Amino acid sequence: MLENARLLAGSTWVFPGLTASGWREGCLIDTGPVEEVYEGTPIEQVVITHGHADHFSRAAALRRAGARVIAAREEVALIENPEVNIRGMFSWAKPSDEMVTRLFQGEGCAIDGYIDGWRGPGIEPVPLAGHTLGHTGFLTCDGVLFTGDALYVRPMWGQHPLPYAIDVGLALTSLRLLGTLSPDWLVPAHGEIVPGDEVGAEIAHHIGRIESTCALVLGILSEPRTTEAVIAQVSASLGVVENAAQYWLSVTTVKGYLAYLLERGEAEFYVESHAGWWRAI
Ligand SMILES: [Zn+2]
Repeated sequence: MLENARLLAGSTWVFPGLTASGWREGCLIDTGPVEEVYEGTPIEQVVITHGHADHFSRAAALRRAGARVIAAREEVALIENPEVNIRGMFSWAKPSDEMVTRLFQGEGCAIDGYIDGWRGPGIEPVPLAGHTLGHTGFLTCDGVLFTGDALYVRPMWGQHPLPYAIDVGLALTSLRLLGTLSPDWLVPAHGEIVPGDEVGAEIAHHIGRIESTCALVLGILSEPRTTEAVIAQVSASLGVVENAAQYWLSVTTVKGYLAYLLERGEAEFYVESHAGWWRAI
């Protein structure tokens, strides 16, 4: 019996919060920001979906208390040193504090083992790249699927009309993979738990939003545009919140869309007057 968690199915528990975390037989999936909710919970290991600080907020503290921390290889640098993610966002230069989302700021945590080869207590990793390169979901043998930030459920889209994605093609592949899993419950890191019979509609909605954003970008590129102009027009069209931290998240995600359209041969890139330009083909 866990005090601050909800028993969802079988032996799989969910700690609700700013970032939902899961628990099964001593293994915690992600950590939210509030250490006290885990008090009294036996935690032998912590698996991290990806290297954004809001998903490993308490990992270092839990590790100091004796837990082993596990993550995908591609995420290790981001978790051990959040500065890597912050620098990457700004092309390795040093951004000011106001430019950095608080979701990237947190205490780093050493990693004790990699996801590949890891076997959890009735927990299978599911590779769900796209939001980050090594983003990983976890499916428990009780039919509960923890999707981290790979799926944005419908109520989240009002606040986040341009969910962070570094690779749109990988994000689409991951959403299609999610569609083959048929869990009884889906637990997104942010937002309400989704019952199994609504999972298909949530996945279809996210895929539809990615497709409509691709169409939006291609429409903008009917005339040649600089990278900066594409970012501004996509953000304005979708109603993205306007501040410095959100702007830099949008830069990465819009570049993710541009790279996807480039790879598909639907857009081209060139340099003119020392600016980067894009146009639809
Ligand atoms: Zn994230």
